[in-house]
Amino acid sequence: MDEIQQEFLDIVTQVRTHLEYRRALGVSVVETAAAKAVSPSAIAVPPANKPIAKAQEEPEPKTPVAAIAGGLSVVRDELGDCTRCKLCKGRKNIVFGEGDPDAVLVFVGEGPGQEEDQQGRPFVGAAGQLLTDIIVKGMKLNREDVYICNIVKCRPPDNRNPEPDEIEACEPFLVKQLQAIRPKMIIALGNVAVKTLLKTKEGITKLRGTWKTYQGIPLMPTFHPAYLLRNPSDKKLVWEDIKKVMAEMERTKKG
Ligand code: URA
Repeated sequence: MDEIQQEFLDIVTQVRTHLEYRRALGVSVVETAAAKAVSPSAIAVPPANKPIAKAQEEPEPKTPVAAIAGGLSVVRDELGDCTRCKLCKGRKNIVFGEGDPDAVLVFVGEGPGQEEDQQGRPFVGAAGQLLTDIIVKGMKLNREDVYICNIVKCRPPDNRNPEPDEIEACEPFLVKQLQAIRPKMIIALGNVAVKTLLKTKEGITKLRGTWKTYQGIPLMPTFHPAYLLRNPSDKKLVWEDIKKVMAEMERTKKG
């Protein structure tokens, strides 16, 4: 399969996942900007018994919501005992991510550190404690109510930044995780997360605090908690960013 065919298949998969998600929410029509411009009519989403691009012989999931929640474990199964990049050599555990599979909010960090590698859980070291404080003390949420994951799922040696080939090998799994969760908002923590998700060369100092979008999902870039441990005076900037996210969460609850 060439690159264009792969890209087309990826788009079809993304559209299908999104339509299934909307159907799970009970939305039976999709209005597009183009359709609106031409006529007020909407494009119908096929009913649940007519899969959009699935082979007929595939059994229909009990409910689309269950299928989406189950989606994360499917992604985990696909990742398996990954040896797709050189980070597998030094890891103790794959750190897939944890939290609510239906989370409204997903935090994306860089990659596991030593403690995360030991425990197989994201953000459980010193930076993790700070992230937990932001979630629990600042946002008044439980850590289990959000989803926390990283750009790469294995610890880079000596906590160096993940290299481009490592990001490239791991990114499809993050994409699928986000497609399975379909959060309402994403917080990208630090340079690696923001540059990878937004495909930009702009740095976090420039980007933080302004809403971006990732595959139609609002994304707030902010400083990584590990940076805040070294630069505590910038905590107030992160708090400004987090307050924007909280305001948006409040707004979407009402809307
Ligand atoms: N830093 C990250 O980016 N991710 C973790 O899971 C821990 C520290």
